[in-house]
Amino acid sequence: MTQHRVCLLPGDGIGPEVVGQARRVLDALKLPLEFTQGEIGYGAYQKLGTPLPEETLELVSGADATLFGAVTTPPNLPGYFSAIIRLRQTFELFANIRPCRSIPHASSRPHINMVIVRENTEDLYSGIERVEDGGNRAVSEMIITRKASERILHKAFSLGRQLHFQKVTVVHKANVLRATCGLFLSVAREVAAQYPDLLMQEMLVDTCAMELIRDPGQFQVIVTTNLFGDILSDEASMLVGGLGVACSGNIGEHAAIFEPVHGSAPNIAGQHKANPLATFLSTAMLLDFLQEPEPARRLERAVNETIRLGQVTEDLGGKLTTEETTEAVIELL
Ligand code: NAD
Repeated sequence: MTQHRVCLLPGDGIGPEVVGQARRVLDALKLPLEFTQGEIGYGAYQKLGTPLPEETLELVSGADATLFGAVTTPPNLPGYFSAIIRLRQTFELFANIRPCRSIPHASSRPHINMVIVRENTEDLYSGIERVEDGGNRAVSEMIITRKASERILHKAFSLGRQLHFQKVTVVHKANVLRATCGLFLSVAREVAAQYPDLLMQEMLVDTCAMELIRDPGQFQVIVTTNLFGDILSDEASMLVGGLGVACSGNIGEHAAIFEPVHGSAPNIAGQHKANPLATFLSTAMLLDFLQEPEPARRLERAVNETIRLGQVTEDLGGKLTTEETTEAVIELL
């Protein structure tokens, strides 16, 4: 059996609660895992003077995969930066993967099984901005490159193939943003030609936002640029149960970090109310990444069954604590 090295980065607020529960679930699965744990976020800053210590970077580098909880990013603290955004940049985690699947719960629309693949490194998040004309004109540079487009499109098409999907929807706004989205779209057509088993559908971002509400079941893989992906993936997560169950992965060539989409939720931290299921589903993604699909499916099935039985936290209408929800999942494993 291959021994996998997993780095845990609990972070702030409810981060340590949900990552601690994920560790219990991983222990129950009895896999050949070796854990390390690093400091990150506002707590690390208070203790060590930086939200992202060098040792944490080394732990992520040395791990086969990392599970991250959440960090608090206090606004208005001069010189402070978001540790998770810095991590994504440092390790060039170019692909943000957000699965959206129906859950057996009243808040979820049925028959949805899609994955949103978002480019994570460029576009309007290039950070190149300036203010001109005495503060009366602001400019932000939208950067799209062939290299980043090719790698994200290959990621999307290969994921579509791996998941036995038939279709990849490329979302853009090339009718208006002719240079930037135009480049993304033309690279998409070239890449799609290398995956003749998959149908490539082209869709304008405004149409996609509307179609996600009208008929979300039509989508399988959606691949798009950074800003559109940011917005569409949050929209899509609300179709299938929302923050308490939204999971994600940030994948690069040399590192992969999995995390629940939610933040550190300081309003409920320490109250045993945090829903750990988004972290468990992120853990299942981590297991898939480590080529452990069987325990990943077992974990997903146990999470779904827990939801179906109503053995969930308050945010999903249940009465269980964070720890009791974990016990329900472990029981079903
Ligand atoms: P949030 O996601 O932390 O919370 C939004 C709302 O959802 C709150 O009412 C919270 O109680 C609830 N919620 C979130 N996760 C939950 C869970 N697992 N179970 C039950 N309820 C849950 O977003 P916010 O309040 O806007 O931000 C709080 C802090 O988190 C800020 O400092 C922000 O910068 C940070 N943040 C971090 C990340 C990250 O680490 N990836 C993401 C978003 C926000």
